[in-house]
Amino acid sequence: MNNKQLLYDISELNSLFRESASIQTLLDKTVEMVASHTQSDVCSVYLYNSEHHELILSATRGLNPESVGKVRMKLGQGLTGLALKELRPVCEEDAAQSPNFKFFPGIFEENYQSFLAVPIARGISRIGVLVLQRKDDRCFDDSDITALEAAASQLANIIENARFLMAMHEPYEPEAKTVLPEGLAFVKGQVASEGFAYGPAIIADKKKNLAALMHRDFDEPFTLEDFHRAIAKTAAQLEELQERVGQKLSDAASLIFAAHLVILKDNHFINGVTKLIESGVNPPVAVMRITREYMDSFAGSTSAYMQEKAQDIEDLMVRLMGNLLSETEELDGFKGHVVLARDLFPSDLLILSSEEAAGIVLVGGTVTSHLSILARSLRIPMVVTHTYELLDLADHTPVLVDAEIGNVYVDPSDEVLERYESQQKAKLALAEQEHVMQPETFTRDGTRVRLMANINLLADLKVACELQCEGVGLYRTEFPFMVRRNLPTEAEQFMIYNKLVELMQGKPVTFRTLDVGGDKALSYYQDVKEQNPALGLRSIRFSLQNKTVFAEQIRAMLRAGAGTDLRIMFPMISSLDEFFEARDVVYECKDALDKRGVEYNRQPKLGMMVELPCVVDLIDDFAKEVEFFSIGTNDFIQFMLGVDRTNENVAGSYLPHHPAVLRALKKIVTSANQAGREISICGDMACREPYLPFLIGIGVRVLSMAPGYLPRVQKALSSMDLSEARTLAENMLSQSKIRDLAQALNLQ
Ligand code: PEP
Ligand code: MG
Repeated sequence: MNNKQLLYDISELNSLFRESASIQTLLDKTVEMVASHTQSDVCSVYLYNSEHHELILSATRGLNPESVGKVRMKLGQGLTGLALKELRPVCEEDAAQSPNFKFFPGIFEENYQSFLAVPIARGISRIGVLVLQRKDDRCFDDSDITALEAAASQLANIIENARFLMAMHEPYEPEAKTVLPEGLAFVKGQVASEGFAYGPAIIADKKKNLAALMHRDFDEPFTLEDFHRAIAKTAAQLEELQERVGQKLSDAASLIFAAHLVILKDNHFINGVTKLIESGVNPPVAVMRITREYMDSFAGSTSAYMQEKAQDIEDLMVRLMGNLLSETEELDGFKGHVVLARDLFPSDLLILSSEEAAGIVLVGGTVTSHLSILARSLRIPMVVTHTYELLDLADHTPVLVDAEIGNVYVDPSDEVLERYESQQKAKLALAEQEHVMQPETFTRDGTRVRLMANINLLADLKVACELQCEGVGLYRTEFPFMVRRNLPTEAEQFMIYNKLVELMQGKPVTFRTLDVGGDKALSYYQDVKEQNPALGLRSIRFSLQNKTVFAEQIRAMLRAGAGTDLRIMFPMISSLDEFFEARDVVYECKDALDKRGVEYNRQPKLGMMVELPCVVDLIDDFAKEVEFFSIGTNDFIQFMLGVDRTNENVAGSYLPHHPAVLRALKKIVTSANQAGREISICGDMACREPYLPFLIGIGVRVLSMAPGYLPRVQKALSSMDLSEARTLAENMLSQSKIRDLAQALNLQ
């Protein structure tokens, strides 16, 4: 099979779709094309309806054409349903013999033996299944699977875009207030960011809102002046929002509304709408026609950046139309509301935070760490669930989000509300007590331990300072990069870093260089889909392959750190060679700043994160070169045990007390201490109370954590005795079974 030709032809489908604007034509062409390239007798596409959890035969070459639209199966049902449920290819020599085969009368599938189904998905978002079948015993092999997977991944983007555009043409039926199924009074989700929220719901299902607008009749005539008035009002609103985000989150804000404002001021846009209005088209219709043109030009793109831009335009259209129709009087559409949303970009979180949304229920997402960490930094309670029916709730339904334990209550009873209020009071009282912290931390027997803060956004710093941290042990510099729409310049970074240093008033600040990639991709920069992003172009590897970006960041750090205890730390270092290469960039940056004649820190301490198991055996060699270490236990445990802790299927195997993890930690800490190099822990293990005696027992004296944990950890340490901690650690290091270790830590 000519794979390249197949992929090329599929990519051509996108332009075909834009010309013919029919998803059916697109699917029909697809099955023809794939069947002929793969010399298969049958090629079929099943599309997935996520609301009904159902696959529908949507196009076929080879099966009974009458069955299109009629054959339906649930997720997991039959070989096709299985492929989509488990998001993996299913290949059978003789399909009918498989225990998973499901017989559908009348489609004549039984004539074909060899069977191959691959899921069409984007990430974990399920779109459909592509199925091939052959009559004879020419089985599908690995190369067929690879080719079909590549085709499916390309199709995923095309179909999603096509579906989105089609949704705008579909007749819109305003939804009747849904009668909720019994169980929906209470939904169990996962905590992404702790807290409580109670308020009227807003369903932020952008596609639905847009479709509603697209299918509305505008009987009332509007004028050109109305259009200009709406433009001015929208621009003023956006500028005010920008200003507010800027005040609240100076490091993250940048120009998140830049794209909106650019379009509002774009002559092509204004003239396009004006011309239509002058030719007699009612302004709301004219606005939608022209914005549609803009959206179409982005819709074909597979790039996350372009998709984000398409969303900007959607958002803008909804806001502008609201102003034109005089329906959005208030700026704070989300203030005090619980937002039920399907997809969120990091920048959406910023907007919700600046508008003071009370809480968020993310439906259908995963607790991907970066969105959750961001929600935590923004202090917005957030729960993630897969109960899609929540999106059918009527706006303004009261919703209570208990993001302490992940519960969502729809229209809660008085009893639930009372319980919530008393919990709130208790929490506030506890928080007040917890705020009382000593500036220095000692164990009961007087051993000094330094408690530092992990900072993601400058907003975290206020709490950290109030609570008396002794410095910043980890500043995750990627957060300002992630929530922006474009790369911050050296000057912008300098301003952010400078503010951080200023606020810390001489206390040490550890800047970690950009740790992007994995689940922290920059939509505007990294657009390559990786098979395995956790092991892909991330972290220091990204920086070393993008040296201009890296050097800009280092120069900003060196300048901001002038006259302070500046520490620069490289993430995910795997070899000395990598460390040297990164260090050389620092040296080059110093030369460059010398030439510029600007003030900068000439002697920053250069350290590294220990996050990869390959570092353990080289730790003594590293200790000769590296001035300080910080163990990122989150990644270290993940890579040591080969477990993705955000994957709920295996999260139970993510165990800080695995004997190999404990012994590796002991080895790293001992070597660093012997070499006189500072060693800290900055992963979540540092704030988990059961592990503290072990860490102190093996010689850790610096812990860095999210600021909220500082008081609790100080309290736990102050009642700990060093010799007892050492005995416990020794005992733990002699154990080889997880079960015994869990017992020693009272974890069962
Ligand atoms: C870690 O891996 O433990 C760590 C602190 O880094 P991050 O959580 O930012 O990946
Ligand atoms: Mg890490």
